Amino acid sequence: METILVLAHTEADGSLGKAALETLGAAKTLSASLAGSTLVVGLIGTEVQAAANQIAAAGAARLLGVAGAEFAQPRYSSDVLAVEALGKAAAATIILAPATSRMNRVLAGATQRLGGRIDTHATGIAAADGKPAVTRWYYRQRMEAVLSRTQRPWVVALESGCSAAFAGAAGQAAVELVPVALPAAHQRTTVTGIQAPSADEQTIRPDAKLLFVAGAGWTKKQADGQAHAAEAEQIILGFLGQTKSSLGSTKSLVDLSGEGQQVLKFMSHLNQIGQTGATPRHAKGLATCCHGEEPHTVGWRFINERRAINLNAACSWAQGKADVLYVADAFAVMRKVNELLAAK
Ligand SMILES: Cc1cc2nc3c(=O)[nH]c(=O)nc-3n(C[C@H](O)[C@H](O)[C@H](O)COP(=O)(O)OP(=O)(O)OC[C@H]3O[C@@H](n4cnc5c(N)ncnc54)[C@H](O)[C@@H]3O)c2cc1C
Repeated sequence: METILVLAHTEADGSLGKAALETLGAAKTLSASLAGSTLVVGLIGTEVQAAANQIAAAGAARLLGVAGAEFAQPRYSSDVLAVEALGKAAAATIILAPATSRMNRVLAGATQRLGGRIDTHATGIAAADGKPAVTRWYYRQRMEAVLSRTQRPWVVALESGCSAAFAGAAGQAAVELVPVALPAAHQRTTVTGIQAPSADEQTIRPDAKLLFVAGAGWTKKQADGQAHAAEAEQIILGFLGQTKSSLGSTKSLVDLSGEGQQVLKFMSHLNQIGQTGATPRHAKGLATCCHGEEPHTVGWRFINERRAINLNAACSWAQGKADVLYVADAFAVMRKVNELLAAK
């Protein structure tokens, strides 16, 4: 009989974030398919009542909480004790947590303290033949493995965007607070502030519906014999600003700065999509000024609908890699698209 503990930390406003609700959704499905299993939720934060109320309808047998000002901040030394205490209080055999940076930081250490085993980067957990099994990708998301373990507790960090988030009416929940003695030595680290780019500077948006890929063509000489990197920047940023799409790049484009060529200043290696870059999951993708070579398009594996704009009708996107290829000048097309968006 499995006891499934869902671990989650509260957000700054005291609520549970999307990743936590997705993990709860996955845990509920797992619990429903494992006969005799029990679902328990463990919350960590300054105050956990509001979060507990948010998931009152989740059907958890117990709602545990580690609460206090000292648990407001993501800090290894306090979070690891909180996770350990919740795991023990729940007598959990399976612990599911969202793969947030806060949880990823402490889960392995807490697993060691609980004498368990951990799997990270899981994209799913489900019962197969009455036994829970985790799904995870290997070799740059080319091979999918299904793993199960007999060791308990079994801790699993679930990636975001892979399960449907729990959605239920809020209610009044009863929380069992779990006391955690926190020695002064566990409180030495303090988060003094957060430095993050503003929403418009942050061009990687995993939750965006559209992935907009810019290729090296944006910086190459155009029909007039000149490169137009400054205008390219303006067009691309204009489109991103209006649509809040996520920005991807080819390796050639992000490598250009090292070769002393004209570059798009907001582009970094973090934007690179492909074999040696990222493999994002967006509903749609639009590639512009990008040839569509295999090492790049391999990173489009999870993009459902693919379109490309290229001057060259024989580019690689035309070889069955795109649903629609517009043989056109991306400068002209995107200028017009921006104009239409602005007029909306
Ligand atoms: C081991 C290895 C790993 C690699 N990993 C990756 C990876 O992870 N990601 C990746 O992206 N690449 C990767 N590559 C590189 C990859 O093979 C290609 O070289 C790269 O993707 C090409 O980038 P590009 O299409 O932007 O540039 P180019 O090949 O230079 O293509 C530019 C395109 O822009 C078009 N163009 C120019 N002007 C316009 C215009 N005005 N309108 C419309 N179209 C225009 C041109 O027709 C051309 O097709 C890897 C290569 C190797 C060997």
